[in-house]
Amino acid sequence: MAEKPRVLIVEDEPDVAELERLAFEKEGFRVETVDSAARALERLQSLTPDLIILDLMLPDRDGLEILKFLRFRKDLTHVPVIVVSARGEEVDRVLGFELGADDYVVKPFSPRELVLRAKAVLKRLKPPEKSVIIRYGPITLYEEEFRVEVEGREVKLTPMEFRLLATLISSPGRVFSREVLLDQIWGYQYQGYARTVDTHVKRLRKKLGPAAELIETVWGVGYRARALNA
Ligand code: CA
Repeated sequence: MAEKPRVLIVEDEPDVAELERLAFEKEGFRVETVDSAARALERLQSLTPDLIILDLMLPDRDGLEILKFLRFRKDLTHVPVIVVSARGEEVDRVLGFELGADDYVVKPFSPRELVLRAKAVLKRLKPPEKSVIIRYGPITLYEEEFRVEVEGREVKLTPMEFRLLATLISSPGRVFSREVLLDQIWGYQYQGYARTVDTHVKRLRKKLGPAAELIETVWGVGYRARALNA
């Protein structure tokens, strides 16, 4: 990202939106704010931001619906989303991750903390310095371009699905426990969110189509990419 990263803030409380804007601008982001789900969806027709900050409690729709929409829109599925919510309940948190949120922040929070989280998310997704291409059976993964092909056809993955696939196929045959995957991919110790890994693997397999069976479940342990020449 040579240019300033562009963040879209979806937040209906003007004071909160303004604090977030200031915090992001101070750290060199370009910021746009919208105050409803409808305006967010409208703006996303033409804008592909580097990051979306998404409040869950919007006046017109639940933010989770926007998240779902983003994950189904092929051109937006790769954009990381940090969900912001006054609802700290486990169910929302889990649902947020299962729908593909990259991080989840509970209100009230300091805008500075939000920016730090945003930077962490972007850093995790940053391509390596050197171009890395992983070839694994019918799958080719271009790390730098954030692109995956199966039998030469492009497959659109979310940031987390992409990292999950990259992790597994980098070490074929190695079994990764859910805890290790949570730690390496989500970047935090999400104890008790093992289901999030299962959901992502399920979606990943679906998208991989003919290559789905290469991602194996190791019962009671976790997942692995099948060792191909064994
Ligand atoms: Ca709100």
